[in-house]
Amino acid sequence: MSPKKTSLSNAPKLSESMSSDACVPMRVAETVTAPELPALFVADVHLSEKHPRTTAAFLDFLSGPARQAGSVFILGDLFEYWAGDDDAGSVFNRSICEALSALTATGITVYFMTGNRDLLAGQGFAHASGVQLLADMVSVRSGSRMLLLSHGDALCTDDHDYQAFRLQVRNREWQAGFLAQPLDARRAFIENLREQSETAKTEKRSEIMDVSAEAVTSLLRSHAYPTLIHGHTHRPARHTYLIDGHRCERHVLPDWRNQAVWLAFDGAEFSVCSAATLSLPAPLPLVGEGGA
Ligand code: MN
Repeated sequence: MSPKKTSLSNAPKLSESMSSDACVPMRVAETVTAPELPALFVADVHLSEKHPRTTAAFLDFLSGPARQAGSVFILGDLFEYWAGDDDAGSVFNRSICEALSALTATGITVYFMTGNRDLLAGQGFAHASGVQLLADMVSVRSGSRMLLLSHGDALCTDDHDYQAFRLQVRNREWQAGFLAQPLDARRAFIENLREQSETAKTEKRSEIMDVSAEAVTSLLRSHAYPTLIHGHTHRPARHTYLIDGHRCERHVLPDWRNQAVWLAFDGAEFSVCSAATLSLPAPLPLVGEGGA
């Protein structure tokens, strides 16, 4: 096998998992990342026409460091918002899809999981970009580790208002009704929602918007103590836990503000890399949290 190729022989192909519903992303029980090349993890890029430096950083990432990876995992909120796959035709979104497509055309697999902001990115986005859709919460074997990947908002269970909203917008019927509206109306609705969300955030206690310790413990326990990687909270860190005598880790991905920041895993070690510190990977701040 060429050292440049990602080994995914055990991973189900998207088409194989689509027999009954073309919109269902694959729920990979287990996939194998290339041990000889790092898997890169990014989240919360929040691409928007309003932030050209972040866009430039992402395009540089795709044409630079991502080309040296075994695979790339995008764990949600790649876009500041995505109003539906018919939004893939806008000049901005098309430029992002084309850049992703140029990367996937080289044989590097890019996996994509939706976040809360780009929840409606589906098959149309996957076709335009060449990414493989992942369901939120997938297990991936890499080297000797089982990794559990998620966007992260499902773990913010102390924020009851947000969880009620999350349930609503993930409801298929609600989505169908929303997508039946004209694109302009959907964009306007989302813009309004974002303003409300920003206001709500200033009124909520900070800890409410972080993941719940109980939810994390329960998740790690029910998945046989994997290494959890997620974004969403914009609180980058490497947390360690001792749960039922098992050492677990939770890596929280940083959001992007004008620069590329990603987590790399070479099958043995994690390192945080950025375009600014490319030659000097730094570990995430370590936060010990005891155990349950
Ligand atoms: Mn998010």
